[in-house]
Amino acid sequence: MKKILCLALSILALTACHKERPSYIVQVSLGSWNHADYTAAQVISRIDTVSSIIPVGKVIIGWTADKAIYREVGDYLHSKGIKMLLWLPVFAETEGVCDNSPAVDLWGRTPANYDLAAGEGFRFNCPSDPRNVANVVGIYDRLFSDCGFDGVFLDRIRSQSFVGGVSGVLSCGCPICRERYAAEGVDLDAVRAAYEASGDSFFDVTAGSADDSFFDVTADSADDASPAVTAYERGFHLSNPIAADFFRAKEKIVSGSVGAVADSLRGRGLEIGLDLYAPFMAPFVGQDYEILSEHADFIKPMLYRKTFAPAGMGFEYDLLRKAVPDASGYPAIEMSAEFLDSQLDAMAPYPCEKYPGIEINYRKGIVPTSPEYVRESLEHVMAHRFQGAVLSWNIMEAPDSHIAALR
Ligand SMILES: [Zn+2]
Repeated sequence: MKKILCLALSILALTACHKERPSYIVQVSLGSWNHADYTAAQVISRIDTVSSIIPVGKVIIGWTADKAIYREVGDYLHSKGIKMLLWLPVFAETEGVCDNSPAVDLWGRTPANYDLAAGEGFRFNCPSDPRNVANVVGIYDRLFSDCGFDGVFLDRIRSQSFVGGVSGVLSCGCPICRERYAAEGVDLDAVRAAYEASGDSFFDVTAGSADDSFFDVTADSADDASPAVTAYERGFHLSNPIAADFFRAKEKIVSGSVGAVADSLRGRGLEIGLDLYAPFMAPFVGQDYEILSEHADFIKPMLYRKTFAPAGMGFEYDLLRKAVPDASGYPAIEMSAEFLDSQLDAMAPYPCEKYPGIEINYRKGIVPTSPEYVRESLEHVMAHRFQGAVLSWNIMEAPDSHIAALR
């Protein structure tokens, strides 16, 4: 039944006229604060080539603090009618340019980090400390406000994930956060005690209803060809009410702070894009699509099926299951095209533009993508008829065969 419905929807999507042709957003991972990996001429040459193959509407570039590069690239992009957005990290990786207070878990420890090829360390900062929020806006004002940016793409707008084990998601527990959770009716000492008393079962989930805020998996459904792929709308329904309340408050606190950063930058006339975890995992890292979409011009859920690194959907889900192996209710999830559809369905209702993020980069053993994979992902994304797609995460290194697959 489900297959027939999907087929009918696909045919409908193919035959219907697009009001506007979808456009692509590409990302240029320029380098860390102190070092640009590419020159302006290299970036311009690459975008020139790519935009001759596919329609590029926006370029997300950052976050090396080198104004000259952005000014030169910006002049080129604007001459082509392409917008330039600053790629700006919010709650991690800002240590090089400002002094932030780090996030701690409910035991007061710094959650563990993950290094991808020794280049991408993730230290997370407290989402509640007003100084941290002000610092992010200050980075834009100080380093980038006179570079010709049309907008800002906010990355790292979350807590640590299960990359840091249970400690990663049971954060932040600093004194400022304690007060904010208390204001939401959540006592962090009680949350910690509940976890210590119940262990993995603190994270037990059950099938919820479509009205729940932290819901909805029918884990044992025996759908014909894809038993695990059912209604993964916006996450799982946690059985333990203390756990459910904690994550509900965490969504409000983390996403509320992201909203404050976004609003400040919007007040400077900037377009705002947001980098989000896939809907089924987002609540664990404090991302509430409903709150966030109110502060964004567009959202980019990272729907990476073949990235075995942070934010990869299968990677993060495996870490969850390894972190709490005895928690019940979590089904095996195959990173299939049907699962991709479930996440595309889940992001559909929100009132901003939607550009799902798909990986087009390749890295042996970590991101084993192929032209066929890129083509399949894109077909499913486009069938949902959003505004376009974000090609992640570094157009400078994406294989030409993957870009050609997008034609
Ligand atoms: Zn905190």
